[in-house]
Amino acid sequence: MQAEIITIGDELLIGQTVDTNSAWIGSELAKQGIKVQQITSITDQREHILSTLKQAESRSQLILITGGLGPTKDDITKATLCEYFNTTLSLNPEVLSEIEKYFYERNIDISQMNRDQALLPVDAKVIRNWQGTASGMWFEKEGRVFVSMPGVPYEMKAMMEESVLPMVRHYFNFIPRAFKTIMTVDLPESVLAEMIEDWEKKLRSEGFGLAYLPSPGIVKLRVTGQSENQKDATENVYKKVKEVQPIIERYIFGYDGISIQEVIGELLLERNATVSTAESCTSGYLASQITLVPGSSRYYLGSVIAYSYESKTAELNVDPDLLIKYGAVSEKVIIEMAKGIREKFGTDYGVATSGIAGPGGGTPDKPVGTVWIAISSESGVVSKRHYFGNDRKLNIQRTAIAAFSMLRKVIIDREDWL
Ligand code: AMP
Ligand code: MG
Repeated sequence: MQAEIITIGDELLIGQTVDTNSAWIGSELAKQGIKVQQITSITDQREHILSTLKQAESRSQLILITGGLGPTKDDITKATLCEYFNTTLSLNPEVLSEIEKYFYERNIDISQMNRDQALLPVDAKVIRNWQGTASGMWFEKEGRVFVSMPGVPYEMKAMMEESVLPMVRHYFNFIPRAFKTIMTVDLPESVLAEMIEDWEKKLRSEGFGLAYLPSPGIVKLRVTGQSENQKDATENVYKKVKEVQPIIERYIFGYDGISIQEVIGELLLERNATVSTAESCTSGYLASQITLVPGSSRYYLGSVIAYSYESKTAELNVDPDLLIKYGAVSEKVIIEMAKGIREKFGTDYGVATSGIAGPGGGTPDKPVGTVWIAISSESGVVSKRHYFGNDRKLNIQRTAIAAFSMLRKVIIDREDWL
């Protein structure tokens, strides 16, 4: 089954509102195993809406529409849908009394415009909106379904979760589907794919699906499976995940979208341990990523951004001779930085980064993208040189992920995986 999304609203086309509805709907449909083949954003113009509906109908069985359902004159989706489906509006008394209640409870005078929101197409199933006053509408035409929902993201989301998704599953008679996402770090997707080649071949031959979802430093592996019932689908996928675990054990840091910072947080809390960071090339990015996790104040004590030679010496006690002799991007210096920060903050672990983020500043023996990372702990300091690419922002992001991955291995006593 093919699906597509149409978002309607002038504000989307002039960049006033970012179309987050499509992204959210796309991810929800993907979870159900429904493929979205096109997303279209259009203006609040009658001809435009009509022609887009026509094109969508020629391609897709499920067409999800958001926007243009407000009470004001600029919102014309409802009237245009009536025209498209050759139907008329009639007053829905239940919806009207809900709208009146909505205004009464908020102590706002209700206008005729608001009352008119209870006028709904005769040929559509009404989808109730418990968060606002614009109802959703479900149209069926020759085995195809069109669903119109409000543009306001939280109203649309509630409507999708409570009504639209269950209705879609029922209408299209879905085979239960399950999926599990394996979160991996340190490997490019091509290398990962090679490592799990045999497993993947077998997996696919047995009717399971596998998707590689890469982002800087991290590849998510999403395994999908179907079965007669939900329980079997879930169990079968779980079995497949168990099979691949030993092959890539050292690269797996978690499941189902957890971030590596969250994993580190959990590990530190379990051990009642603390961490601090000394950042040169990442300049606070580690700190900001760590503190995105709620509750990080229980294990993260702080950071020093030591960007200059002087600050590395003054704040982290790095020997100036080492800086002059080996440079800031060197093993000797990174070790000192990691030791220095751990001592300064009195934490169990210290993380240090120093590298050439680029695009300039490289030399033949230290090309752009050279990054040293070190982790200090009670048992000493481990350090590693990485080579990332030429892109400054990517280098900073990849340094953070690599540092978190190293920290994780040190915390769980798997230095042999470094
Ligand atoms: P409407 O249903 O056209 O009255 O939309 C109401 C509000 O929802 C708009 O003012 C936007 O701020 C927001 N909105 C509409 N469409 C989208 C969309 N595709 N993504 C995110 N927000 C949206
Ligand atoms: Mg609008």
